[in-house]
Amino acid sequence: MHCLWCHNEIIPEITWRNFLNIFGENIVICDSCKQKLTCIVGPACPRCSRSSKNELLCGDCKQWSTHPTFAGVLSKNVSVFSYSPFMKEIMNKWKYRGDYVLVNLFKAGVQKRFKEDFGKLNPTLVPIPLSATRQQERGFNQAEAIAQLLDLPIDDALTRVTNEKQAKKSRQQRLQSNNPFQLKNEVQGPILVIDDLYTTGATLHWAAYLLKRGGATTIDSFTLIRS
Ligand SMILES: [Zn+2]
Ligand SMILES: [Zn+2]
Repeated sequence: MHCLWCHNEIIPEITWRNFLNIFGENIVICDSCKQKLTCIVGPACPRCSRSSKNELLCGDCKQWSTHPTFAGVLSKNVSVFSYSPFMKEIMNKWKYRGDYVLVNLFKAGVQKRFKEDFGKLNPTLVPIPLSATRQQERGFNQAEAIAQLLDLPIDDALTRVTNEKQAKKSRQQRLQSNNPFQLKNEVQGPILVIDDLYTTGATLHWAAYLLKRGGATTIDSFTLIRS
């Protein structure tokens, strides 16, 4: 067995846990790389997972929660890892250079965090889409790849509005709607929107806004990284 990232050989310690692991699941990351993948732990904003000194709502979330369009559309965001130089390196190789198999580096962390926060929800997963051109360039949609780590139904309910479609709108329409997405089909029940990054939260709020209007009962988001 070799580490997916550094290619060093992994020689697992023979403990009961590892013994079971060897047969149950492939070990894909060595201990030293695993330690550099920093999971978000400790106090954080309860709505967006941003690390903080306390458990209070952060300034951005306060704004979202009173926003005329977006108040109440996205219940909360949970992110698995924090952004670090190491994570940036992995993202470059995975996302921008199309090394699809690296998604497995995240598998254990994603599954663990999902179980802790959404284990009882039984949601339908809606990955944030790429434009057709972007997806062709990259070869895959990273949000879809993350969703596939979880054993749940995936609904590609959103499409990205192409520049062409945006251009056909009148200037007035364009000003009113900066929504990068369109709803392809109606949805139902609890929805978990999946993406790789939560930065300002704008993308996920636009997605949640549409999904709410499309029939979702509750909408949360689950993202790989909180930047
Ligand atoms: Zn390694
Ligand atoms: Zn927040």
